[in-house]
Amino acid sequence: MAIETIGVVGAGQMGNGIAHVMALSGYNVLLNDIDQGALDAATETIRHNLDRQVTRGKISEAERDETLARISTTLEIADLGTTDLVVEAATEDERVKEKIFASLLPHLKPETILTSNTSSISITRLASRTDRPEKFMGFHFMNPVPVMQLVELIRGIATDAETYDTCLAVVQSLGKTASPAEDFPAFIVNRILVPMINEAVYTLYEGVGSVQSIDQAMKLGANHPMGPFELADFIGLDTCLAIMNVLYDGLADTKYRPCPLLTKYVDAGWLGRKTGRGFYDYRGETPVPTR
Ligand code: NAD
Repeated sequence: MAIETIGVVGAGQMGNGIAHVMALSGYNVLLNDIDQGALDAATETIRHNLDRQVTRGKISEAERDETLARISTTLEIADLGTTDLVVEAATEDERVKEKIFASLLPHLKPETILTSNTSSISITRLASRTDRPEKFMGFHFMNPVPVMQLVELIRGIATDAETYDTCLAVVQSLGKTASPAEDFPAFIVNRILVPMINEAVYTLYEGVGSVQSIDQAMKLGANHPMGPFELADFIGLDTCLAIMNVLYDGLADTKYRPCPLLTKYVDAGWLGRKTGRGFYDYRGETPVPTR
């Protein structure tokens, strides 16, 4: 199936990155949010990130202008009725996503493919509440979208081969690489990455090492570009905790229990970079470990 116009629902951190890479690859993009402020901020962020690509010589000024011209924003979800593919990237809340699909369905063409960028919600369950579970799948970009090479493509139990192949072709047209994943809690990347972060928090909690020594050990000893605490602060500690809970509940195995110290940081509102403090304090000139 030929994909020309793509709808992106949710203009936050992920939605603006998805709109950016889709438009840069030549797709017409309709970006939707319930908040005009989020749409305005997304347009600004996309412009800023495209400017940076121009400065670095990755794209020309003409490509930047053409990319921006291919992105339209709207507060009306009904406007996405003309799209060939929808990527839902709104707030990670199952009820929010369910409502979005319910309000979108009456306006869609029968052949439109529906996808979700969810990090943890069951694709099979989201799909089952639509009129097209065979045309529904997970389209999981990594953050920051313009930089990260991988997209996990998650098949729900009913996803058909044509839908998968169409989404695979879109990923390839973006110059990115797809990893196919079956629909089980947290898919591939977060299933492996977030328990590693949780184990780092246990290592800290049990006094085996400090924030600094654990980060240094994993950077120099395992060749990781960021230490687990630097990475956790980047992802957001609330997100890490939510993913551990999805694994714990969904796989019913105590090896996924969230570390009480991770819960404590989240309870304190120390969520990482986005709140100025997490395992590091970012309020000064250089990050300082908080333990
Ligand atoms: P975000 O909070 O930055 O953005 C969410 C946006 O959705 C907000 O602008 C909000 O106004 C909008 N929104 C809420 N309800 C809406 C509705 N009914 N209709 C339209 N828009 C609505 O969140 P994010 O970090 O961009 O995450 C979005 C999705 O991407 C989530 O499902 C998340 O799990 C997934 N994801 C996030 C990351 C990450 O690192 N942040 C990585 C991969 C996937």
